[in-house]
Amino acid sequence: MPDQEAPAARMLRGAGVSPGVGAGPVRVVAGAVPEPPAGARHGGDAEAERAAALAALEAVAADLEARAARAADVGNTDGRDVLNAQALMARDPGLADAVAAKIGDGTAAARAVFEAFGTYRELLAGAGEYLAARVADLDDIRDRAVARLLGVPMPGVPESDEPFVLVARDLAPADTAVLDPAMVVAFVTLEGGPTSHTAILARTMGVPAVVACPGCTEIAEGTRVLVDGAAGTVRIDPSDEQVRAARDAVAARAAILESATGPGATKDGHAVPLLANVGGPQDVAAAVANGAEGVGLYRTEFLFLDRAAPPSAAEQEDAYRKVLEAFPKGKVVVRTLDAGADKPLAFLPPPGEEPNPALGERGLRMLRGHPDVLAEQLGALARAAAGSTARLEVMAPMVTDAEEAAFFAQACRDAGIDHPGVMIEVPAAALRARDLAAEVEFFSIGTNDLTQYACAADRQLGGLAHLQDPWQPAVLDLVAVAAQAAADAGRPCGVCGEAGGDPALACVLVGLGVTSLSMGAPSLPLVRAALARHTLDQCRRAADAARRARTAQLARESARALLPGLAELGL
Ligand code: PEP
Ligand code: MG
Repeated sequence: MPDQEAPAARMLRGAGVSPGVGAGPVRVVAGAVPEPPAGARHGGDAEAERAAALAALEAVAADLEARAARAADVGNTDGRDVLNAQALMARDPGLADAVAAKIGDGTAAARAVFEAFGTYRELLAGAGEYLAARVADLDDIRDRAVARLLGVPMPGVPESDEPFVLVARDLAPADTAVLDPAMVVAFVTLEGGPTSHTAILARTMGVPAVVACPGCTEIAEGTRVLVDGAAGTVRIDPSDEQVRAARDAVAARAAILESATGPGATKDGHAVPLLANVGGPQDVAAAVANGAEGVGLYRTEFLFLDRAAPPSAAEQEDAYRKVLEAFPKGKVVVRTLDAGADKPLAFLPPPGEEPNPALGERGLRMLRGHPDVLAEQLGALARAAAGSTARLEVMAPMVTDAEEAAFFAQACRDAGIDHPGVMIEVPAAALRARDLAAEVEFFSIGTNDLTQYACAADRQLGGLAHLQDPWQPAVLDLVAVAAQAAADAGRPCGVCGEAGGDPALACVLVGLGVTSLSMGAPSLPLVRAALARHTLDQCRRAADAARRARTAQLARESARALLPGLAELGL
């Protein structure tokens, strides 16, 4: 039964700071302790008032220490340390002096405590993100002391006899550290950021958490919610099916991440190198962490999107070398600047007004008008590769015909680059790939642009999403033609568009004859697992079925029906 209600009304969004999903009834942390009225004065016995204030602070410190010991008992050493630090704050002699001085001026104990904490609070709040996050710790000590002095309920976590989702404005360490992870299935807070204690402790405890979630404190006590700590969502009144699906997805993904390791290959051992798409050295760590065997697309224009002047040769060389160094035994495929259309570079403007920039001077067309920029980039690449053991391959974007391919191969050779290639993203290049294969060493199919141009659907227009689908059988036909031409010429043919990161389509692409896949790093484990569960023959059958389909949707469905391992993986 499809979901009939508007999803927006049933879903809250915040920042996911601790992954996993948790579902259960909401328990809201007790409301704030009231602020003692400004100007409240004691009856004249300053000594008794002072003693009451200090006793309250000492009782809070002792309680925090007791909680620290309980946290240590459940193995929560982070929680223990935080609580002991809070106990120290409660016993701070400077704080006690400030409270005593205010009481000496006639201020009532509760108000004196409140005001003395206020001074510390301001100091912390203005002292950078990390210390500002400690403000919640300080407020918690204050509220506990004030609650004792006013005789009102202590703030903190409510009792519950069933597992629950804890919702609060913000969570103090005193609340979270003694929680039983078996009882708390998720945290959701209105305030907080990635460095707040809620986030740190939630991660330590392995409890899913969403912070900075507007509207969460208005959820009625007892309402069932589904919290996704990776996506940062809180679904109100989820169906059993939605809860099951979320749990299955998390379990499947965790299993995939654990089991999918090593070089990419089909179940029967047909190697398909899995490479990463990067936009600069900052993306290398994630690529390595996800097991990339190299880089299949280095989008060099991403380094320079905000530049008014061309980057210096030395700066380029440095940015290229850093990526090459990360893959000493692998290959790194660098794409020369793909300026124009959706990626304009201020230092490479089109020569005139372009009514259709995607059909205008972009990619290699643009670089041919700026031979100095092309030569400088190729020179920087050659120098970066000279001291590296990685295999450098360099390709041009937006190549249309064999003449352009030959021009680029010559420019590479002139710069001392041995492995020139071209992207196949213009339908003309795919259809006549056999001509291009005679000029360069490899192809890399850019399915994003190939789909845009095959279907005449601007990638930037949200309304044409159904035509910007690489499952369109016409796009699959073009991929097949290019891959076959490459194979006939003994050349490798990869895919580096988004299609390569779709586990089902990745299998189909391999079945079409694609020899490597490059994608955003987070997709690597999923694609690795999908390939490992299917033979090359299964991939080929799925590819045939997809090409025989009349629509993108039917292509997807008919391929999936022949790739049973996807459902096993929950993909
Ligand atoms: C593509 O077009 O598929 C591609 C990989 O290049 P970009 O997305 O950078 O245009
Ligand atoms: Mg492209």
